[in-house]
Amino acid sequence: MYNIVLFGPPGAGKGTQSEKLIQKYGLTHLSTGDLFRKHLGEGTELGLLAKKYMNEGHLVPDEVVIGMVENKISETKDTHGFIFDGFPRTTAQAEALDKMLENHKMEISGMIALEVPQEILKERIKERGKTSNRVDDQDDAKINTRIKVYLDETLPVADYYSGQNKLTKINGVGKIEKIFAEIASVIDSY
Ligand code: ADP
Repeated sequence: MYNIVLFGPPGAGKGTQSEKLIQKYGLTHLSTGDLFRKHLGEGTELGLLAKKYMNEGHLVPDEVVIGMVENKISETKDTHGFIFDGFPRTTAQAEALDKMLENHKMEISGMIALEVPQEILKERIKERGKTSNRVDDQDDAKINTRIKVYLDETLPVADYYSGQNKLTKINGVGKIEKIFAEIASVIDSY
């Protein structure tokens, strides 16, 4: 069983690589962004609550995110493990995730961090915004907020896993297949 945290700034390619990893390793994709967008689309109470944070590029409060992830882990049976994508995004979320997994007799195998320079991120997100229908992808100010929130609140999560000797950094610029091969070789070494 592998439980992988796929980490990186908005636009780093986490979603793209997750899809390929799911196919190769039979893992369950747990993307908190996707889960929130599903709630939003269905107009649930949780979706309405998350909407105001998401549309401005701010983080949804920890307790809301943690509760949603806990539900998803509990309801998932017979999996080869999880790819956590977009979660944990704060150190408090990382601590909560360790406890949750422990309760289910699992642990994080490792964090794989995709590194991409800011200028390339901004270009990628704007390009995605042309087709993604995501309001948070279509406006420079919102994109800048998300990158700032990442640097201020999310980057410390890498230190958290580094402190457990579980961090591997990978260059997220280049051909999708090449990046995927590097990620797969890290996973195969777990
Ligand atoms: P990105 O493409 O910017 O990485 P995501 O699709 O992962 O974005 O998430 C979109 C938005 O959903 C975030 O900007 C944030 O408002 C909210 N969100 C997703 N995951 C989390 C999380 N773990 N903690 C707090 N907010 C989150």
